[in-house]
Amino acid sequence: MSENKKTEKIVGVKGMNDILPADAPLWELFENTVQSVLKSYGFQQIRTPIVEPTALFARGLGAVTDIVEKEMYSFVDSMNGDQLTLRPENTAGVVRAALEHNLTYDGPKRLWYVGPMFRHERPQRGRYRQFHQVGAEAIGFAGPDIDAELIMLCQRLWDDLGLEGIRLEVNSIGNAEERNRHRTDLIAYFEQHKDLLDADAQRRLHSNPLRILDTKNPAMQEMVNAAPKLLDYLGEESLSHFEGVQKLLRHNSIPFTINPRLVRGMDYYNRTVFEWVTDQLGSQGTVCGGGRYDPLVEMFGGKPTPACGFAIGVERLLELLKASGEKFDPNQCDVYVVHQGEQAQLQAFVVAERLRDAGLDVVMHCAPAGGAGSFKSQMKRADGSGASYAVILGEDEIAKGEASVKMLRAAEAGGNQTAVPLEQIVDYIVGQITCGGECDDPTHHHHTH
Ligand code: ATP
Ligand code: MG
Repeated sequence: MSENKKTEKIVGVKGMNDILPADAPLWELFENTVQSVLKSYGFQQIRTPIVEPTALFARGLGAVTDIVEKEMYSFVDSMNGDQLTLRPENTAGVVRAALEHNLTYDGPKRLWYVGPMFRHERPQRGRYRQFHQVGAEAIGFAGPDIDAELIMLCQRLWDDLGLEGIRLEVNSIGNAEERNRHRTDLIAYFEQHKDLLDADAQRRLHSNPLRILDTKNPAMQEMVNAAPKLLDYLGEESLSHFEGVQKLLRHNSIPFTINPRLVRGMDYYNRTVFEWVTDQLGSQGTVCGGGRYDPLVEMFGGKPTPACGFAIGVERLLELLKASGEKFDPNQCDVYVVHQGEQAQLQAFVVAERLRDAGLDVVMHCAPAGGAGSFKSQMKRADGSGASYAVILGEDEIAKGEASVKMLRAAEAGGNQTAVPLEQIVDYIVGQITCGGECDDPTHHHHTH
């Protein structure tokens, strides 16, 4: 290897994004809101591994799904020959864990998760190879009530985040027997229109014809619109379940449209399926997909256990949140500590710790390359830090047992510097930040209060 090669920059994996500090407050706002909404419905968090046995997804998702056919990061562990896969979704993992730990032994469970998922797709806006999902899985519930609750929970999340224009589409895909009867007619119909089918649809004609209904190819829309509708094949039980969901949604003023062509990508779904869609994200407009998956637990070797869940695409939702102009905490600190000289530095560390004890966010000036720098250059950093106050410790201050406190944020801040005895510094700054009854500037609120 040449010397040149050794110093070449290594860049990240294509389609896998770094989430930079500038975006961190947005993620925090989102995650905090999600956590509190899910908690308010009694959901408990579960954290499962990012790597699972390949067989879990092959069996759970179905061999002829997009994910299993072409999107999985699967590999052999060279240490022991295990077949492993980076999780492309987390319903399979959560159900595996629930079974493995017998979580539903004392009744149904409401679970939720958040974390990275991996799919080997063509990277584009709203479609990445590592992306994040927040999901909920309600395991052991049979009725339409939980389906409606999951949907209402999503609505509350959009509301709490201040997001508008996310539409709800629902459908019922019945049970396996109903789908089989529909499938026969559907294949016959597509065969009559074989000349209109694109390569993808041709391939799926006998393996997964339902997915053809989901096509985004404009040339096929008209033909697909007129195809036999699964809804017309539903029996009494499936229909009354679907009506039960709709009744609860109407009663709770959740607007929805029935999309008879809505199917979901995974094999394990039955009955209720739903998607939340927006027009504001171009062609990747689905921000959340979910539905009932009663057959899955049994497919994994458990006793028959009904279940329902959803997954939100976090990146797509954050793009919406950014566009909505939602204000979020710009992650500022309260105090920046400036110091010069050895004694002052020792004292500065003590003061900074005492301020942190009092609950403040404090950034200590630590020497960058080239040395600690002049007061002037340190004050520049203090300004740039977003702190509300600078605490200044120089040899003069140390000699008098004082520190100087400079207000950085207020409009009239220029030159406003006060000498404060060291033992009173915490009380003084806390008092300033909470305005201590004498402050008439409403912008002085401490950001964590
Ligand atoms: P699509 O039809 O867009 O491929 P999907 O049916 O594969 O979606 P799901 O498996 O239902 O998606 O995942 C739920 C949500 O996760 C999607 O609605 C979307 O918001 C998000 N999502 C799925 N794949 C990606 C990806 N590659 N990059 C970013 N977000 C994704
Ligand atoms: Mg997909």
